[in-house]
Amino acid sequence: MATWGGIADDFTGATDLAGNWVARGLRTVVTLGVPDAADRARLAEADAVVVALKSRTAPVEEAVRDSLAALEALRALGCVRFYQKYCSTFDSTPAGNIGPVADALLAALDTGLAVVVPSFPATGRSVYRGHLFVGDRLLSDSSMRHHPLTPMTSSDVPGLLRPQTAHRVASVPLPVVRAGAPALRAELDRLRRPGARVLAVVDAVEEDDLAVIARATADHPLVTGGSGLALGLPADGAPAHAAMPVEDGHPLILAGSASTATQGQIAHARRAGVPARKLDLDALRADPEGAVDALVAEVTAHWADAPRAPFLIHAVENRDDIRRDDPADGPPAGELVERALADCARRLAAAGARRLIVAGGETSGSVVRALGIRRLELGPSLGPGVSWAHGVAGDGRAYNLALKSGNFGAPEIFTDGWHALA
Ligand code: ADP
Repeated sequence: MATWGGIADDFTGATDLAGNWVARGLRTVVTLGVPDAADRARLAEADAVVVALKSRTAPVEEAVRDSLAALEALRALGCVRFYQKYCSTFDSTPAGNIGPVADALLAALDTGLAVVVPSFPATGRSVYRGHLFVGDRLLSDSSMRHHPLTPMTSSDVPGLLRPQTAHRVASVPLPVVRAGAPALRAELDRLRRPGARVLAVVDAVEEDDLAVIARATADHPLVTGGSGLALGLPADGAPAHAAMPVEDGHPLILAGSASTATQGQIAHARRAGVPARKLDLDALRADPEGAVDALVAEVTAHWADAPRAPFLIHAVENRDDIRRDDPADGPPAGELVERALADCARRLAAAGARRLIVAGGETSGSVVRALGIRRLELGPSLGPGVSWAHGVAGDGRAYNLALKSGNFGAPEIFTDGWHALA
């Protein structure tokens, strides 16, 4: 019976958290959307279940409703500890959705405190004095400043959270963490108030800090964070992924992410000779079906010559491609991109695509929903935060999928990521 239940605000985040639990020896399954009674029997063997939602930029009420539905489904599976997973770059708007979802989970679990731990040192995310760093830069000086959906122009995590929550936001500095788990537990207990709730942003710079936080919160029903905190759990034997089935079919890369790391990965793939096509937003706006028809024709013609060679469809090449929307133009650019990539995924799956690397959290949500996949079993890791997974769709088609958060992955992931499927 599962102990841990994860509630992730996007699909890449779900596989990211699941990959870290697998690395700590927990048999982990991802469900795409809230599992229903029919899914439950298949989840009985897992130690941890992560529900992937597409709630990061959804309206607040929808994000809260979906997160509570996920919590109920996870409780029905027997989970007793819960992990609200958001992005390690704290992607959110002043309206939410990190704070409102945390508030709702605290209330539903009737608990007085949850830690807030975006830190994920293996990918360069650290929190010091409440400030979130990406590598050696403040978050607000990183490329997240220009994110199309959730531009992050402040790095002050308590300051970002306060407008999003009804509760007190406290900050726990690094020296308290470095004093060890008993000292941190005492500090977290000190912050509790009868009849009130608190969200405690805890500094963490290195993986050892996460281990301290994990020990200090071992009896907390709810923790919140990026996936890094899951790596703070003591390792329980070898990584727990089962032998992943490898599907025989065409390889495809769909990159809707506009993030800097994805831009580098696209540039690397193009330099390495991977055939690629950038989405033409004007064509998509004028004639979405015609534009997708043309893409599908180009990709299938490529596979006719080279069935085992990947084709890359991507949204941007560099920052100048990111459109600031004018509502007079019609649907926002991001929506056009997501719809086009989802349509390409559906049409190219029908043409035999079975191995997909998808770049972008929102993009992965659109693509995986379009394919009709309900559940993912984790496979080998492709580096911090990214793993291969295997999923079967409602129509019986099976896929290998690597869902990559925009800023994760080595520059070579689009060219070398396939080796793990050899
Ligand atoms: P990441 O993981 O990098 O944040 P996401 O897929 O979550 O990637 O988000 C990127 C968003 O940006 C998607 O909604 C995508 O459709 C949108 N997008 C992609 N290209 C453009 C563009 N040229 N202009 C505006 N929005 C874009």
